[in-house]
Amino acid sequence: MPELPEVEVTRRGVAPHLEGRIVEQVVFRREGLRWPFPAHLAESLVGQRITQVGRRGKYLLIGFATGTLIVHLGMSGHLRVLPPGVEPKKHDHFDLVVNDGAQSPSQSQVLRLNDPRRFGAVLWHAHDDGDIDAHILLRGLGVEPLEDKFSADLLYKATRKRSAPIKQVLLAGDIVVGVGNIYACESLFKAGISPKTPAGRISRARYDKLAAAIREILAEAIVQGGSTLKDFIAVNGQSGYFQQTYFVYDRAGVPCRNCGAPVRQIKQGQRSTFYCATCQR
Ligand code: ZN
Repeated sequence: MPELPEVEVTRRGVAPHLEGRIVEQVVFRREGLRWPFPAHLAESLVGQRITQVGRRGKYLLIGFATGTLIVHLGMSGHLRVLPPGVEPKKHDHFDLVVNDGAQSPSQSQVLRLNDPRRFGAVLWHAHDDGDIDAHILLRGLGVEPLEDKFSADLLYKATRKRSAPIKQVLLAGDIVVGVGNIYACESLFKAGISPKTPAGRISRARYDKLAAAIREILAEAIVQGGSTLKDFIAVNGQSGYFQQTYFVYDRAGVPCRNCGAPVRQIKQGQRSTFYCATCQR
């Protein structure tokens, strides 16, 4: 499943091909994915210039003067930028064809969404409907982990009344977004904090370590993903998702890379948690 680093790498990969370009055509090959595709999107977008490609949590925000196209990759979606005329393959559900405004077909490029499991989304939020941050899918999101607003202080203050285990508080996404299952497990390992510790009982000093670990692990994932950027413009490229070397995630029973004790696996809120009972207290 694409996590925040994959979405950010996708954003960085597609943005240079989209920003400043004019929409030439909108193609839908089915009625919708997780939700129906917006009716009349072509009428809204054809001829409009893309102002910027942003991201909030795992939502890509393709900005226009008249509104924002919200794209979510769901469980299995990925975006590629292709030259015009490439035949769609199975599960290629949506194309946004753009050009540089010169109306020359050779200048066109196709942003193509492929999503086999169809949990992704393409939604339109008109400027007239208000601030994009107030959109129902975005307004409950916590702060961005790679922005300055995210800090140990924020984690500490926001968790004083939270008795749930820290792992589940991170996954909830209402304090900080983008710390999905993999990154929650890995960050807690790096910070030496047991995933079972009630969030409200963790000291400020330990949140210093956790905030730093979250930043470092997400930033590292984005850097590693950067090496796959070429795939976004390759006709037959891979999806652009990437595997990091994990310390505990998906390593149940394998010796901890730090102390050699077997990595443990437990269930927390239906999700698997991996941790080292020796290194994490
Ligand atoms: Zn260990």
